[in-house]
Amino acid sequence: MTASNVYPTADLRALDTAHYMHPFTDFKGLAKEGSRIMVKGEGVWLTDSDGKRYLDGMAGLWCTNVGHGRREITRAVAEQMDELAYYNSFFKTSNAPAIRLAEKLAEITPDHVNRVFFCGSGSEANDTVFRMVRYYWSLLGKPSKKVFISRKNGYHGSTVAAASLGGMTPMHGQGDLPIPGITHIAQPYWYGEGGDMSPDEFGIWAARELEREIERLGEANVAAFIAEPIQGAGGVIIPPDTYWPEIRRICDAHEILLVVDEVICGFGRTGSWFGADTYGVKADLQPIAKGLTSGYLPMGGVLVSDKVAAVVIDQGEEFFHGYTYSGHPTCAAAALANLAIIEKEGLVARVRDDIGPYLKERWSKLGDHPLVGEARMKGLVGALELTPSKPARREKFADEGKVGTIARDLSFKNGLIMRAVRDSLILSPPLTLTHEEADELVRLAAKTLDDTHAALKREGLI
Ligand SMILES: *Cc1c(COP(=O)(O)O)cnc(C)c1O
Repeated sequence: MTASNVYPTADLRALDTAHYMHPFTDFKGLAKEGSRIMVKGEGVWLTDSDGKRYLDGMAGLWCTNVGHGRREITRAVAEQMDELAYYNSFFKTSNAPAIRLAEKLAEITPDHVNRVFFCGSGSEANDTVFRMVRYYWSLLGKPSKKVFISRKNGYHGSTVAAASLGGMTPMHGQGDLPIPGITHIAQPYWYGEGGDMSPDEFGIWAARELEREIERLGEANVAAFIAEPIQGAGGVIIPPDTYWPEIRRICDAHEILLVVDEVICGFGRTGSWFGADTYGVKADLQPIAKGLTSGYLPMGGVLVSDKVAAVVIDQGEEFFHGYTYSGHPTCAAAALANLAIIEKEGLVARVRDDIGPYLKERWSKLGDHPLVGEARMKGLVGALELTPSKPARREKFADEGKVGTIARDLSFKNGLIMRAVRDSLILSPPLTLTHEEADELVRLAAKTLDDTHAALKREGLI
């Protein structure tokens, strides 16, 4: 019997408020409203402690790529725990699941990537990147190359280095971030910031911000550029097609490393194994997490290219960096079972050729709704930009974020989990979504838009 079956919801809520400090949460607001307590997951469906069912349009938190309740993973985890639940990878020791997972990752990554450094999360992966990149340049006798160029409104995690690499100003405001040695350039957010340029023109302009920043800082001081293929937490910002090829050109023309944060885009989300594959770019380092285990257990890592490995391994001494849970055998077993499902069910190709285009076609039609300024999607990640009036991009809602929150709450009420970013709704469902479930998802999203429209009229917001 699970705890949620033992205690009534009201008791759980009271205990939750009294003792549990939630991540990214306004504590007082939550205490007033009480949390929604999830008790069960099966496929793309979740059930809360009141018995209400939801279509999980966010795949947990961008991670449950194979859907909830997969016995293949829970069985693999139980078997591994019975055998060897934990051992570390320090001091010349290793374990079979971590070794096999490292080999599997080398197989599914492009030819120039053959190694992985394991850690416990996406944030730790980016802290690892931060240390490994600086170590790389000092080994090459270029210790002045220290600065990371990142992007405004990017997300790379919540630890000190990861939050600093990220470009979230509310996060920076709490605790004097970013730490020194990190600068942020414009994001390729055409809908919000493209002005009068066409998407293609704007993509080139935004990419060239990187070149201008390298020139401003001096190439001898720049270590790396880090970016998500598609910004997730920033609002599912799908860059114009011109953006990534220009970024890769700029990185090739200058002596800097390219770090592609695959924490969301990895493991099929965009219709390739990795976001870098979708955009045809060759990354030097790729942080991974989330879809690596589909969130069944926490695990992250950094995929390391041969170019970086050749320096860090061949020219380095001991790399004084690692985590107690690096290469955790049980987490690795979960990852292996998860990747086996993705392969067996052909989920990567399914996103590219089947469910991705199927959902995108229907999602795009939501763009005709009077409240929607843009309905974008790539692979199985998308957004609806809400607008007070059309033609879109001209006006924004006053009090940014208020309308998004209203829409998000109505979506939950309608039984579809979407998340709000500013005044947009974002979507990232499990890759196992069936056609019928996609139809239901779009029906619930359309109903949410109608309900939001009515609510805004009632409150005089449009
Ligand atoms: C979620 C996320 C992270 C941080 O991962 P955690 O496991 O929450 O530490 C890093 N980068 C991106 C792109 C993410 O979406």
